[in-house]
Amino acid sequence: MSEIIDKLEGEKPSALSALEMITSQIELEDWKQTYLGKNSQVMRAFGSLGSLTKEERPVVGKAVNEVKKALEFAFTEKQNQVQQAELEQQLTSQKLDVTLPGKPVDHGRIHPLNQVLRRIYRIFGDMGFQIYRSPEVETDDFNFTYLNMPPYHPARDMWDTLYTKKEGVLLRTHTSPGQIRVMRERCPEEIRAILPGATMRYEQLTARSEIEFIQVEVLVVGKGVTFAEMKGTLLDFARRTFGEDARTRLRASHFPFTEPSAEMDVECFVCGGKGCSVCKYTGWVEILGCGMVHPVVLQYGGYDPQVYSGFAAGMGIDRSTLMRYRIDDIRHFRNNDIRFLEQF
Ligand SMILES: [Zn+2]
Repeated sequence: MSEIIDKLEGEKPSALSALEMITSQIELEDWKQTYLGKNSQVMRAFGSLGSLTKEERPVVGKAVNEVKKALEFAFTEKQNQVQQAELEQQLTSQKLDVTLPGKPVDHGRIHPLNQVLRRIYRIFGDMGFQIYRSPEVETDDFNFTYLNMPPYHPARDMWDTLYTKKEGVLLRTHTSPGQIRVMRERCPEEIRAILPGATMRYEQLTARSEIEFIQVEVLVVGKGVTFAEMKGTLLDFARRTFGEDARTRLRASHFPFTEPSAEMDVECFVCGGKGCSVCKYTGWVEILGCGMVHPVVLQYGGYDPQVYSGFAAGMGIDRSTLMRYRIDDIRHFRNNDIRFLEQF
């Protein structure tokens, strides 16, 4: 019995001095394997306890356990030392300067189209308008029929429409279907709303035309709303957008969903009316289409045209943004080239 204890006690100093010499994690692992592993003296001593007498067993067991604990304690101490030393070594060799400023994070920018949109929201917001969203995928009824263009009406050909495979479902060609949705939601209340959003047309992709573009629809419905109020509202909008002195003009036009209809031009904001390539040497730039909401449209929206009237306007954002910033290709807006976007 003392044989086992002697053997262990005899090995302890050499184990401890071997531990003392260690400087790395790898050496530590080796040491642990040798002195505390499955085939170590200590573990084998535990295994041989079974061959001892009942009286010997607890005495030897206790002694072996003490040696094991002593070795484990020394090991843990040494492990901490080694880790600390390695950390310090790492810190000095890598020379981390915590006072150095960090790498700047690039700030994103607001897309030019969204900048323009936000300006429009602010202007109409100041005038008491609410912003409405309506679906980009519409039914034939909302896109055409309810806007006074029944099936086979030739006016439908004014838009090169993208149809889906589902009968009667299409990508909206203008934001005007939103007029019907707002009216049906709000009827019989008065309405002052703008409806911004993407619209899609089957166009050839060129520097001047894209299949997707953003429109903002303006809708006012109430009792006794007049053409003069439309003109005043749109003039105010133009002045807040292009400057206090901006001159505008209304030209008679035709849309199936307004009567009478007009188009609004603003004096060319590039040349000031003298004539340039942007205004095609006319001095004027078209900014929106507008008119009094057609009685049929009011009816489809749920309003009695004998009691209510209203005006609507629609403007495309892409073209005017193009002109405003003198951008040479409309496709820049949607191809996500950071070199283009960084300029705004
Ligand atoms: Zn011009």
